[in-house]
Amino acid sequence: MSETPVTVLMDALGDASVQVVDLTQSLSERTPVIQLPEQFANTPRLSRRELSRYDDRGPLWAWSVLEVGEHTGTHIDAPIHWISGRDGEDVASIPPRRLFGPAVVVDKTAEVERDPGYLLTAEDLHAHEREHGRIPDGAWLLFRSGWGARADDAEAFLNAGPDGPVTPGPDVAAVRWLATERAIAGFGVETVGTDAGNGATFDPPFPAHNILLGAGVYGLAQLANLSELPATGALLIVAPLKLVGGTGSPARVLALVPAT
Ligand code: MN
Repeated sequence: MSETPVTVLMDALGDASVQVVDLTQSLSERTPVIQLPEQFANTPRLSRRELSRYDDRGPLWAWSVLEVGEHTGTHIDAPIHWISGRDGEDVASIPPRRLFGPAVVVDKTAEVERDPGYLLTAEDLHAHEREHGRIPDGAWLLFRSGWGARADDAEAFLNAGPDGPVTPGPDVAAVRWLATERAIAGFGVETVGTDAGNGATFDPPFPAHNILLGAGVYGLAQLANLSELPATGALLIVAPLKLVGGTGSPARVLALVPAT
């Protein structure tokens, strides 16, 4: 077989000089889901109904039916999720090429450790570029916060306080800069959504949703294992359902990382 870029990649996977990192939270009935204020419709957790389990209902097979929100567990936000992107793409319309891109990881774990409501700033992004180079076109900008460590404890993960959830996210200037000054494919986080817990109080409200989805930039939420990625140099692969009309979809998110 003659050598091609794909055979080179397959060889690198074969000898483990390129490794696969799974950035996906396990999806189950226990997976935490966002809690909106009571006046809004809320999404249920995943549930499943068994159709058969090697029994009279199907003697040789087991299968189930799922009820799962589009925005449950590790998932993508399509532009039509937000009113600002309502004329944009649904999940099925996202070009597959956009689902592969350089992963750029901005690590604010220490800041979030000190302040769980930490806001990622435009200056944080500028500082990252000074150290690691320009955010490439088509990149997925990933905000590493350490929040994924809470994913098995819904209370700690959602972190509700008297004034609403206290979770990290980007500020308005960071989001606006990404939308206008760089050509990223998507913005990903470890928390339940791409906006900070107090995102409703911003101008505009929920800026990551409002500005990025309005600009055709996808969201990724509830990522895992971002600590296993380098700041740059990994290839992100996002694989949502090809759901027609979907505003979002649970997704398998993987990264190809050079072995160190
Ligand atoms: Mn979502």
